[in-house]
Amino acid sequence: MTKEELRYALMMQQINLDDSTINKLERLISYTLEANEKFNLTAITDEEEFRELMIYDSLLPMKYIDFNNKKVLDLGTGGGFPGLPLLLCNNMKLSLLDSTAKKINHIEQYLLANNLEAKAVAARAEDYAKKNREKFDIVISRAVSKLNILLELAIPYLKVGGMLLALKGKNYQVELDEAKSTLKKLDAEIVDLYLDNLTNKEERCLIVIKKNKVTKKKYPRSYSEIKSNPL
Ligand code: SAH
Repeated sequence: MTKEELRYALMMQQINLDDSTINKLERLISYTLEANEKFNLTAITDEEEFRELMIYDSLLPMKYIDFNNKKVLDLGTGGGFPGLPLLLCNNMKLSLLDSTAKKINHIEQYLLANNLEAKAVAARAEDYAKKNREKFDIVISRAVSKLNILLELAIPYLKVGGMLLALKGKNYQVELDEAKSTLKKLDAEIVDLYLDNLTNKEERCLIVIKKNKVTKKKYPRSYSEIKSNPL
């Protein structure tokens, strides 16, 4: 999509952005595409495709969720998605977490160059959780792992009553079925499920999961345990 098509598509979703915000998003696109060759941030290299799959898709949750004044963690942010586009459009306290240091370095450079305030952390989610439990209002995550694994990585970070926003594609139903017992063991529940299509017709599902109780200290386990024996 073009810049104007992006603005229009967002407007159709009741997400209204002013010129200055649209221009910031455009600068994020060029910054990311330029750095892409060095840092391998995304497989998407076409600018119009990038607008749809990295910007529009990242902003769609704003249709349903109020990010303002929230403490938000983007878990497995890669080159900063969905976190950075959301940061440009909302007044929130954002932490961006990824295990790949070069991606986090790139994000730090972007934040510095654009005078933005956010915390970029190079660490594995299961390690960083040890000292950052029960701290966030929202954990958001796109394309990191299947829901049953993501839940164990993400839920410990949330305050009781906080929400995990899992951005999923058309296979969401299978992932939901696999995650039933995980939800129970982590005292969390699905509270909303929102379906959308990108303008290219790809299906998107936003799964909203609420944390109901303080997470037991034994979670998250080591990544090998999480992966080989999901809850
Ligand atoms: N969310 C981004 C990136 C998806 S790729 C986007 O939608 O474009 C998945 C990212 O998750 C990779 O950058 C990888 O380094 C990171 N990742 C996977 N497992 C992780 C873990 N356990 N802890 C931290 N980061 C992880």
